[in-house]
Amino acid sequence: MTDTMRSINPATGATLAEHPMLTSEELEGRLARAAEAAVRWRRTPVAQRAAVVARLGELLDAEKDRLGRLMTLEMGKPIQAAIDEAAKCATACRFYAEHGPGFIADDEVEDDGHRSFVTYQPLGVVLAVMPWNFPFWQVIRFAAPALVAGNVGLLKHASNVPGCALELESLVSRAGAPDGVFQALLVGSDAVAGLLADPRVAAATLTGSEGAGRSVAQHAGEHLKKTVLELGGSDAFVVMPSAELDATTRTAVRARTINNGQSCIAAKRFIVHRAVADAFLEKFVAGMRALRMGDPLDPATQLGPLASARLAAELEAQVKESVARGARLLCGGTRESPASAFFPATVLTDIPRESPAYRDELFGPVASVFVANDLDDAIRIANDTRFGLGASAWTNDPAEQERFARELEAGSVFVNDMVASDPRFPFGGVKASGYGRELSDVGLREFTNVKTVRMKRGGGGTAKNTE
Ligand code: NAP
Repeated sequence: MTDTMRSINPATGATLAEHPMLTSEELEGRLARAAEAAVRWRRTPVAQRAAVVARLGELLDAEKDRLGRLMTLEMGKPIQAAIDEAAKCATACRFYAEHGPGFIADDEVEDDGHRSFVTYQPLGVVLAVMPWNFPFWQVIRFAAPALVAGNVGLLKHASNVPGCALELESLVSRAGAPDGVFQALLVGSDAVAGLLADPRVAAATLTGSEGAGRSVAQHAGEHLKKTVLELGGSDAFVVMPSAELDATTRTAVRARTINNGQSCIAAKRFIVHRAVADAFLEKFVAGMRALRMGDPLDPATQLGPLASARLAAELEAQVKESVARGARLLCGGTRESPASAFFPATVLTDIPRESPAYRDELFGPVASVFVANDLDDAIRIANDTRFGLGASAWTNDPAEQERFARELEAGSVFVNDMVASDPRFPFGGVKASGYGRELSDVGLREFTNVKTVRMKRGGGGTAKNTE
């Protein structure tokens, strides 16, 4: 009997579809197709590769309503956010179709007596292990630059979004990519180690949890394969007395609950200067309580379900343990029933160091609020985490802005704005949030061989340098 992967609507618990998983023979066939496609795709002129990505962007834009509905049904994000996600994918495709060829154009280097240049060549087949939380965006932000660069993609998507995985494969094919250039592999995470060991796989990128990152890094390391890891975060949102409090608090609610609280760069720890802490907390708790939770297909819904009842149960256990260790619960905290994937907006404060709310990533609409005595204390609390993905600081004092920009340990620091990804800027983390970058020219070059070429005019060689 073939194993299957089930799409389950987290809002209702209903099974939407069952997809057969690949047998080992089928997986072997997919790898062989990818390896063959890689030989041809790297020789395809870059303008042609970019045209496929441009066409992919057009399809994503034209079909964003249908694609948004698919995302909402499979993982529960509010429908408008899902449609916006498809539109953002289209923007990234347009960006790479337009700028990608320039990012990998040869860099000529002045070099006496030589014609010298640096050239950016594809690595080959890249395995992408992806999460369910932005089921289209995470994949497209890997695929668009990778395909323009001449790489071939193998997508191992999260097991709860097989419908999105198959749809992405179909879209890339409809955009004109030749057979084997981008394939979705319906396999479980137990297949990843074998894929990393396969000589036909050149490199891997993983977006997901810390645990999955460690495992992929370990196996890839064994085979000396390049990896990019985009892992969890526990982003700080620092509020100083000069911030405009009403607007900042409204954004704080959005920053914590975007995507039903399941974003790697959602603000998770709110660090508020003592002078404004009481006023912030009052407005923030009122804002969190007022959110409309319900059917994610209803455009009026602000908070849908988590991606599964299991994830909601795990979050509930983290909140309970934090409270048992001394944290104070200001709202939310419990589900209506043990089978429910819906988790209410929750605020914790007085959080002890040895509790999940201090230490770990809370992947749902749970905010941890800390009070800072001054600027130094705020920076200290913000950096007192093993994560380092994003951070935002809310202040109108130019000296404070500069200190936050320079001293917060994160891949991105935003001042008076919510942390967000944008194709024009590098995206990634430090510390346990991973390494490497996606997006911009930096992301596109991650999976290239940065090759130095020096052609001596007249020949004869030099014997000076030994390395
Ligand atoms: P996850 O459980 O780690 O799953 C992510 C992907 O990794 C899935 O395809 C999963 O496959 C696979 N996987 C899990 N364990 C693995 C292992 N030991 N070896 C190989 N592959 C493995 O994460 P998630 O729950 O889907 O996503 C939430 C996490 O992703 C959060 O921590 C979030 O912060 C992080 N995230 C980070 C970024 C970023 O850019 N830094 C962006 C979005 C999300 P299965 O589904 O088959 O288990």
